[in-house]
Amino acid sequence: MPYGQGRARGLGADVLGVHGVEMDNLVALGLPVVPGLTVPIGSGTGLENRETASTAIDLLEKLAVRGIWPEVRTERRPMLMHLRCSAPVAVSALPPAISAIGLSSRNIDALVEVIGRERDIYDSWAANLRFVAEGALEIDTDDLDDLDDDHPDSRARVPALLELIEKSTGATFPTDPAEQLGLAAKAMLARWASPRGQRARKALSLPGDLGIALHVRALRLGSWDESGYGSAISRDLESGKYAPHGVFHLGVRRADPNPGPGAPLTHTPGGVQILDQIFATLEPHLRAVAEVEFEVRDRQLALLSAGALEHPGPRAVTNLAVDLATGQSIGRSEAVRMLEPDLMQDLLHAQLTLSGREQLLAHGLPASPGAAIGEIALSSERALRLAAEGKNVVLVASETSPADVPALLAATAVITSNGGLASHAAVVARGAGRPAVCGATTLRIDLGAATVTSDGITLSEGDTVSVNGRTGDVYAGAVPIRPAEPSPELEVLLGWADEIRELGVRTNADNAEDAATAFRLGAEGIGLCRTEHQFLGDQLPLVQRLVLAESEAEEIEAIAALTAAQQSDFTELLRVVGDRPITVRLLDAPLHEFLPSDGHYRDDAQAERAAATHESNPMLGLRGVRFAMVQTRLYPAQAEALFRAWVTVNAEGLTPALEVMVPLVSLPGELTEAIAQVHRAAETVAADTGVTVPYLVGSMIETPRAALLAAPLAAEAQFLSFGTNDLTQLTYGFSRDDVEKTMLAHYLEHGLLTNSPFAVLDRDGVGALVSLAADNARSVRPDVKLGVCGEHGGDPESIAFLDSVGLHYVSCSPRRVPVARLAAAHAAL
Ligand code: PEP
Ligand code: MG
Repeated sequence: MPYGQGRARGLGADVLGVHGVEMDNLVALGLPVVPGLTVPIGSGTGLENRETASTAIDLLEKLAVRGIWPEVRTERRPMLMHLRCSAPVAVSALPPAISAIGLSSRNIDALVEVIGRERDIYDSWAANLRFVAEGALEIDTDDLDDLDDDHPDSRARVPALLELIEKSTGATFPTDPAEQLGLAAKAMLARWASPRGQRARKALSLPGDLGIALHVRALRLGSWDESGYGSAISRDLESGKYAPHGVFHLGVRRADPNPGPGAPLTHTPGGVQILDQIFATLEPHLRAVAEVEFEVRDRQLALLSAGALEHPGPRAVTNLAVDLATGQSIGRSEAVRMLEPDLMQDLLHAQLTLSGREQLLAHGLPASPGAAIGEIALSSERALRLAAEGKNVVLVASETSPADVPALLAATAVITSNGGLASHAAVVARGAGRPAVCGATTLRIDLGAATVTSDGITLSEGDTVSVNGRTGDVYAGAVPIRPAEPSPELEVLLGWADEIRELGVRTNADNAEDAATAFRLGAEGIGLCRTEHQFLGDQLPLVQRLVLAESEAEEIEAIAALTAAQQSDFTELLRVVGDRPITVRLLDAPLHEFLPSDGHYRDDAQAERAAATHESNPMLGLRGVRFAMVQTRLYPAQAEALFRAWVTVNAEGLTPALEVMVPLVSLPGELTEAIAQVHRAAETVAADTGVTVPYLVGSMIETPRAALLAAPLAAEAQFLSFGTNDLTQLTYGFSRDDVEKTMLAHYLEHGLLTNSPFAVLDRDGVGALVSLAADNARSVRPDVKLGVCGEHGGDPESIAFLDSVGLHYVSCSPRRVPVARLAAAHAAL
C-alpha cells in the first residue's frame, strides 16, 4: 500500500514495519516523501508472483508519475526501483537495501546517456545481481567471490555475472522489472530467514520468526548535475544549536553503504534552507534531534527516511528542549523531562576528545567526573612542588590520606590503584571537582624506580597521562581536552527544573571556595560542612595536639588553638553562606587519620599515647560523638567558634541559618549529652557578646541503631540528616574503603549486586531504614527537618527514592548540584 495509507487504516509497526510507520507519519505531517509502497509483514512473498509485482510497479509508476524506462512508457521520465525492509522493532542487523532494480541490457545505454556516470550505475547493477544471485538463485558464494576477484571493474563484472547466472540456472536473468522485483524480494526474505540472520536476531534477543515488511520506492532518475541524495541532522552536536548539516551526493543513490565522503550540505540544489521546513516540523514532532535521508530531483526534496538521532549528546538535547518549550511546542515540564540527569553530567565537566588512537594505560573506577592531563607525581611533595611551578600534575598513589589533601587540591587529577568510590581520594576529589580514577588495580606503582606500569606499558614520574574521571580510563600521553561550558540554555532548563522540584538541594562544602562554587551552581544552602576537613593540611597538627595531649594544660592549650583556627574558617565560610542555611557537623574523624603518617612523635610518652589510641577498626572506633563523650571539651569549643563567627557576620548584616549536627550517634543518651554541650557553648557566647545566636541542633542518622531509634532521637533533635555513606557501610557490614577493591567487581559480575550500594542507594535495605526512620521521626515531631548528606544525595536514581519517602532536601558535592536539581525535578514529574 502507498506510503501514508497504512496509518490511515490504523495499522502499526507489527504490520508495516518501523520504516512503514515512519514514512506514514511523515505523510501525515504533510512532509514530502519519496513515492513508495509498503508490502506488509507476511505478504512479501506475494511479490514473487509476477502479476502482483506488476501491479505494485504500476502503482509506483502512478505515484511517481514516471516509468521504468525505456521499456514501454517512453513518454514518461525514467525511474528504477529501490527495495528495503524493516521489522516491527528497530533492528540493527537488517538485510541491506537493493538499489536500482529494473536495470537491464535493454535500458542501460539509454540510462547512462541520461544520467552519465556509467561506472556508478554499473557498480549498483553488479551489487544487485550479486545479492539476488546469492539469495534468490542459490549460486555458490565461492563462485561469486572468484568472479568478483577476476573482474574488479563493474562494467566487466555485470556481463560475467549475467553469464554465470545463466550457466548456473539455465535461464537468462530477467529483463522484466516485475520479475526482477520478485527476485529481489525473494533474496531479501531469504537473507532475513538465513541462519546468519537468525543468529543476529538471537544475539539481539529478538524472536527468530520475527517478520519483515518490504518497502519498494521509486528511484527517480535525472541529470546527474541536478539530482542527488543526502543525509542531514538538524543540530550542531557540539554547540547544540539549530544548524542543519550533513552531506550531499550528486547522482543516483548506490547500494554501496559507504558512498564516499560527499559534499557539504550547502551543495544541495536549493541550498540548506530546503531542509528548514522539514526540521521545523520534525523536531517538535519527534521531540528529538532529527535525522533525515532525502533526495532532491529538480530542486524538489523528498524524504527517504526520517527519525530521531540516537545519542545526540547533552548539549543538543538541552538546546532542543529549551527551543521547543520557548516555541510553545512543548511545556516546560516536558522540556525538563527531555534531559536525563546522567547525561547532563557531561555538560558540567571537561571531557577528553578521543580519536580512538589513544594508548590506554589503565582502567579503574570512575570516582570523580571530569578530564585532566598532567605529569605523573608519585608523592604529595613532588605534586606540590611541580604545581607551585605552575605545572599540571596528576597525583598517582596506591591510596591517599588526609595528609595528601593539599597535594590532591594542587593536582589536576588523582589516580589510585586501591580504594573505591567512597575512599578518601574519591570523596575529596569529588568535593573539590577534581577528576579521579580510583581502584585502577592493574596499576603497579614502583616508588623505588619512580615508575608506574600497567598492561605492559611503563611510564616514569614526569611523563604525561590523561585522566577521564567519567569512565575511569587513564591514557598515556596528552589527549586534547574540551573544557566544560554550562550554557545559558542549561541555566534556563535548570531554572524550570527548580520550579518543578519539591526536594531542596544543598551542598556538602567545607570551605568558602567550594560553597561559592555550589551556590553558583544553584545550591540553596550547605547540608554538610565536615569540620574535620578544616583541619586537613596545614591545620593537621592542631588536632594531633589535642589527640596526643598528655596533660589537661596541654589539652586546654590545644583546644584554644583549634577554636581560634575554626572561628576564622567559620567566619569566612558564613560570609559566603549569607542568609542561607548551613549544617555544621561537629568533628567526626577516625583518629588514625590525624596522627603523623611518618610515625614520628615528640617523645616516648607521646608515642605511647598514640599507640594507646590505635584501633583495629578505626571506622568503627572512637569517631564522631563518641570522641566528644570522651573528650568533652571538643564539641563546646567547636560550637563556640561557630557561634562567635555567626556573631561576627551577623554584625555585618548577614543571618546564616545555623544547624549544628552531631555525627555517628547510636544512643539517644549520646545526643542528649552532645546537645547539652552545644547549648552550653551558646550560653557562653551569649554571656560574652550579649547576642543570642539562633540555631537548630540535630543528629545524623548513620548507624542502623540510630535509624531504628529515630523517634527518640527526633524527640531531642530538630532535624535529622541521613549519612547514607556510613549507614550503607554499617547496614551491609561492607567496609566503604575496601569493598570496591576486594569484592564489588565479583558481586557485580555474578549479579549479586547491580550497582555499588555506595553509589546508588540500596532501596531494600538502607532505603527501608531511611523510610522507617523518617516515618518514626515525623510521628514524634511532625515538622522535623529531614535531609540526606551521603554521596547518594547527588545520584539521580537515589534522589528519586529519597523524594518518594518525603525528605526535605538532599546535599551533595558542589559539582553535582545541577544534576541533583534536575534529578529532583524528574522525581517530582
Ligand atoms: C555519611 O556517612 O554519609 C556522611 C555524610 O558522613 P561521612 O561521609 O563524612 O562519613
Ligand atoms: Mg558518616
